[in-house]
Amino acid sequence: MSLATGLLQWQWWHPLVYTLILTHFTIIAVTVFLHRHSAHRALQLHPAVKHAFRFWLWLTTSIKTKEWTAIHRRHHATCETEEDPHSPQVLGIKKVLLEGSELYKQAADPATLSRFGNGTPDDWLERKIYSHPVGNYLGIAVMAAINIALFGPIGLTIWAVQMLWIPIWAAGVINGLAHYWGYRNFESPDAARNLVPIAAFIGGEELHNNHHTYPNSARLSSRWYEFDIGWFYIRTLQLMGLAWDIRRGPVVHKVASKSMIDADTALAAANDRFRIMAQFKRQVLRRTIRSDRRIKASAGAHYRGLVQWLSQNQEHWDDARHDWMNTFFEKHPELRTLHSLKEELNHIWSLRTRSKEELMAAFKAWCEKADAAGVEALSEFSAMLRQYTLKPAAIGAR
Ligand SMILES: [Zn+2]
Ligand SMILES: [Zn+2]
Repeated sequence: MSLATGLLQWQWWHPLVYTLILTHFTIIAVTVFLHRHSAHRALQLHPAVKHAFRFWLWLTTSIKTKEWTAIHRRHHATCETEEDPHSPQVLGIKKVLLEGSELYKQAADPATLSRFGNGTPDDWLERKIYSHPVGNYLGIAVMAAINIALFGPIGLTIWAVQMLWIPIWAAGVINGLAHYWGYRNFESPDAARNLVPIAAFIGGEELHNNHHTYPNSARLSSRWYEFDIGWFYIRTLQLMGLAWDIRRGPVVHKVASKSMIDADTALAAANDRFRIMAQFKRQVLRRTIRSDRRIKASAGAHYRGLVQWLSQNQEHWDDARHDWMNTFFEKHPELRTLHSLKEELNHIWSLRTRSKEELMAAFKAWCEKADAAGVEALSEFSAMLRQYTLKPAAIGAR
């Protein structure tokens, strides 16, 4: 059956596909342009691409680049504190989920804009149209007119969905839920979590724990099973010569044959500390726990949470967990060793701001202690740490 209100002869599913395509472009504009380019400077974009994104955001959202950028930078700078514009840890999950957009409006004060809004567009288009008090709303009015012209009255419903897309998915789900629920690859200092490994309709932003760990990386995926669709578009733009200076997480150099620890080893490892702690969790803690059936038997109902608990800092444990862990450690002293070695390794990273020699000495002592513990997974891990170097070429030069 074809319906013929508006300019088009359309099938019932056409408005659905049209809405999904339009909202997809909008979320890509938010993640690639506003988030990764404007707020974090993780990539540079061709002026034509920037103009296209700005035009699209004006047409479909009425978001002002400077406001969004400043509020988001403030979020990273003050994460999970009273100053954070949208922390569910401070304001409660319900408020951020349901009133995410409202929180943006409240946070867009002149102090935030001048402190965090540097380097955002300030050209004629921005002043006279996109950020102009009237011009700002002109875009979404034009969008409504286009929808109605194409589909008749149902065009208004499409428009309503478009208007709600970013408030619900970005301001609510990403800002709220992704600081509350999901899995953590990295022990970033905030509460950020990856919601799921793939959610193309929110543009890769579901990988929020990865993002808070490496905020200046243009790529948000980190494990092999994670897919960041925003990164796919960035690579496509790069291939077309429309994106460049694309930043990633810390560049890691390792030399397989290297076993000697020098100052470069310790510095290079400190740069890659989040990934190293994640590897410790997977390759040492999880492997050791899984390889010993007695652990499963004595952990009982707590078995599933064990890896997570052991990879957390002790200060996150409440009294009940402290008691349980102490009894558990008496039965499995090797896990107590692993846990305290993990805490010591975490402490070493805090020495990176002190002298090179101090960092190197602590790092060396840790590796020797790990080798002496008599746990196979730990010896392999320490051998892997020894391979770190700042630049592989430096090895040959010595
Ligand atoms: Zn966040
Ligand atoms: Zn960010």
